[in-house]
Amino acid sequence: MSREHRVALFIGPPGAGKGSLSEYCKRELGWKQLSTGNLLRRHISEQTELGKHIDLIIKSGKLVSDELINTMVEQWLREVYSQGCTGVILDGYPRTIAQAKALNTLFERDLKALQLNVVRFLVDDQVAIDRISARFICINKDCQAVYSGLKHSSMRPKEDMACDKCQSPIGKRKDDHESVVKDRLSMYRKHESDLLHFYQKIGLKVIECDAGQSMGNLFNEFKTLMNIH
Ligand code: ADP
Repeated sequence: MSREHRVALFIGPPGAGKGSLSEYCKRELGWKQLSTGNLLRRHISEQTELGKHIDLIIKSGKLVSDELINTMVEQWLREVYSQGCTGVILDGYPRTIAQAKALNTLFERDLKALQLNVVRFLVDDQVAIDRISARFICINKDCQAVYSGLKHSSMRPKEDMACDKCQSPIGKRKDDHESVVKDRLSMYRKHESDLLHFYQKIGLKVIECDAGQSMGNLFNEFKTLMNIH
């Protein structure tokens, strides 16, 4: 990979559409995505040692340890880096200042050739809450496609409660219940200002997207802001 190869860090509250925009980037641009949340949920559904350890943490909306996440992301990045691809999305990472620092050290040390872009998703808390309360995911751990039950959404499943991609049932995420969502949102807001301050300090421009608009429009805005033709 060279500097034309992008690494986009998607920073935004739950329900902002990070995963949905990642889907567009995978499908339309051939990019690869690491969703730390999806990876952790896969461990839980496979009941690995790690999965058993993090199940309760995730259900209650708390964050998994920085050390564990940093190791996971580094391994994934090295693997993708060795295979080569046009662009990479880190969806939901970094989430804390310790994660941002670890990632920055990794880039300065080993992945200098890549161009790092921070993409911030701007959306009102109430819009995020409404989206999450109507959000369903495919229960197949290898799929985890996301759907919306909102009446006019383009993300409604074609068939009631079944995944368009793999036909598995779709259901609610254990951490998508209102009491937990509010905690997740306030935790996000608490870390967001630290992250933005960190990127400002190291001189990395933060690209801001209006995540309240439709997915198609968000994808177009993203391409324009990222200078992708
Ligand atoms: P959302 O962005 O909708 O909150 P994710 O699927 O990205 O959901 O994450 C779900 C959960 O996985 C988080 O609430 C947290 O417990 C855990 N998690 C995901 N990414 C990280 C991370 N970078 N650091 C710590 N915990 C994480």
